[in-house]
Amino acid sequence: MTRRAVILLSGGQDSATCLHWALPRFDSVHALTLSYGQRHATEIEAARTIGRAAASHIFVELPAFGSLVSSALLDGGQSIDAVGGHVDDQAPQGLPTSFVPGRNLVMLALAASHACSIGARTIVAGVCQTDYSGYPDCRASFIEAMARACSEAMPSSARPIGIETPLMHLSKAKTVALARLLGPAAWAALGQTVTCYEGQRPGCGKCPACVLRARGFAEAGEEDPAHAA
Ligand SMILES: [Zn+2]
Repeated sequence: MTRRAVILLSGGQDSATCLHWALPRFDSVHALTLSYGQRHATEIEAARTIGRAAASHIFVELPAFGSLVSSALLDGGQSIDAVGGHVDDQAPQGLPTSFVPGRNLVMLALAASHACSIGARTIVAGVCQTDYSGYPDCRASFIEAMARACSEAMPSSARPIGIETPLMHLSKAKTVALARLLGPAAWAALGQTVTCYEGQRPGCGKCPACVLRARGFAEAGEEDPAHAA
């Protein structure tokens, strides 16, 4: 049986690493980029470049999603702070204002629809609970529940749908080390990624995403290829 996977490709560091993790593990990997009113088109462009390694790449615009939720990632007038906004018992300082309620719920559901339509049984997502800012929809418990829900929602011929999260328990430094291990194509893809909340590549160096990214490369003893790209 042909083993196909759908990867949620954002244009960021984690999903680019996951794409290259998935390529040797599946017969074909199909990229899905969902845009829901992010502030910056640079990340979408990065996804386009990185996604050329996939067997197919679909872009879906979800403009309506932005009108349902409020987040600093979507709302240009709101500043992105490290902390603030929603309260969560596993994030005692509060969730960052960059949290988009239900984002991974929606994205994984759409990925499951795509998977069912192309005969893929696996979704690959670059979520991580180790360095996570407290996002509840990045935790392993959510991913397990979502895989069950996606499977239940699909016809028996399309089940089970599994969700692979190779970065779930890795620190940012270990994710950098994994990308290095995956080879030159993965490393080059990392150089194309956009992490910065300002949409810059290389990043602004000041926003929480840039600080986290820089710390990961420093701890891994590597130079960020985005600075050389
Ligand atoms: Zn930045």
